[in-house]
Amino acid sequence: MHKFDESADDLAWAVFRYALDRVRVDPPLDGPRSHQELWEAVGQTITEEGLGGESVLAAFADHLAPACLSSDHPRFLSFVPGAPTNASVLFDLVVGASAMCATSWLEAAGSVYAENQALRWVADLVGLPEGAGGCFASGGTMGNLSALIAGRDQAMRRREADGSGRPARWSVVASDGAHSSIDSAARVMDVDVLLATSDDDRRLRGDAVRSAIAARPEGTEVFAVVATAGTTNLGVVDALDEVAEAAAEHRAWFHVDAAYGGAALAAESVRPHFAGIDRCDSVVIDPHKWLFAPFDCCALLYRKPEVARLAHTQHASYLDPINSGSEWNPTDYGHFLTRRARGLPFWFSLAVHGTRAYSEAVERTLEVTRAGAELVDATPHLDLVLDPILSVLAFRRIGWEQADYDAWSARLMEDGTAFVLPTQVDGEPALRICIVNPLTTVDDIAMILDSLA
Ligand SMILES: *Cc1c(COP(=O)(O)O)cnc(C)c1O
Repeated sequence: MHKFDESADDLAWAVFRYALDRVRVDPPLDGPRSHQELWEAVGQTITEEGLGGESVLAAFADHLAPACLSSDHPRFLSFVPGAPTNASVLFDLVVGASAMCATSWLEAAGSVYAENQALRWVADLVGLPEGAGGCFASGGTMGNLSALIAGRDQAMRRREADGSGRPARWSVVASDGAHSSIDSAARVMDVDVLLATSDDDRRLRGDAVRSAIAARPEGTEVFAVVATAGTTNLGVVDALDEVAEAAAEHRAWFHVDAAYGGAALAAESVRPHFAGIDRCDSVVIDPHKWLFAPFDCCALLYRKPEVARLAHTQHASYLDPINSGSEWNPTDYGHFLTRRARGLPFWFSLAVHGTRAYSEAVERTLEVTRAGAELVDATPHLDLVLDPILSVLAFRRIGWEQADYDAWSARLMEDGTAFVLPTQVDGEPALRICIVNPLTTVDDIAMILDSLA
């Protein structure tokens, strides 16, 4: 299994050929199969004697892979799709082959050096000062949790220092547009979420934050305020400047969840929406969403990384050699220890193509979104939910109910045309198209809209 012999060589070329074809050839949309269908096609794969490389690779290629939606298909437009560059996908193979554990500088200095340059580019987009930094975490969910842990740790230390001790409850202010992972983080941390209502434009404003803080239950300490820069459902960017101000008045940690939308900082046409993001204490941006990196990759950044380090560094005698130095250890900045160098595919592609190519690719997706909105506007039986701010197109088919949307969506996926799921806006079903793939064209959108006639 570990010696590289002739059969390993054969397997290597078979795997390379498969991977290369997957990158080279436009993928079919594909889609889920039932457990029964998969069992009939593939059966039991884990056996005492092993099935051999050829047979297992064939089972994957012929049956398992086609039962997975291709998130890079230009008409995979649900959730937030993926659109990794060729360079990033191919380099992911190299990362896997390199067996580096990117927990610490000691173990993977070269990787951490490279990842940190990619993180610095993201920090520059945000406008964070020199000295800012963080790590690549698995996703926005883990990034949000790690950031909020750091924020609470800072508040806890401050209270310990000034003698006020633990409050009865900790809480975080977030809006109704915040991602479900904020709620999830709060549950993990056993803290409360104080809901701040968004305004008529669905944005969180400073006064709503002030009201939520003022209305906190007695004994509750608000340690953080979360703004969303690009809500997942509609692409709305909160009034970051105002929220930053309200958070600062309360000395609360200001976290910006830009997991989906942060990539748009690279696009001049929408950058003004993000005014104030540079005031954040922490921010997450997922390169696996709109910065063309493979799953899974979240840039987690702190204005003052030393605060995160106090919260996250793990202490154990076997880890002392890592902790005794002053080098940059990614594990100090998030809730994990062992870590794949998951920022490297993103770094490699960014270094290969340069940042301008990224700006242009993001702009392209925004242009397609705007053109799509015009098509919706021009179609009498379609109704735009809001003018797109980023790259989410939300609209309704007049006269349709939930069952109509569900049936249409299932049909579209089954015949391999597109993957578009309905969502809810203001308690009513709507369609939502999220465009992060520069290969998605206006014609693709038109094809989908035509099917709604
Ligand atoms: C996608 C998303 C998340 C969660 O990120 P994962 O990478 O899926 O864990 C969090 N916040 C926002 C705004 C998102 O769009």
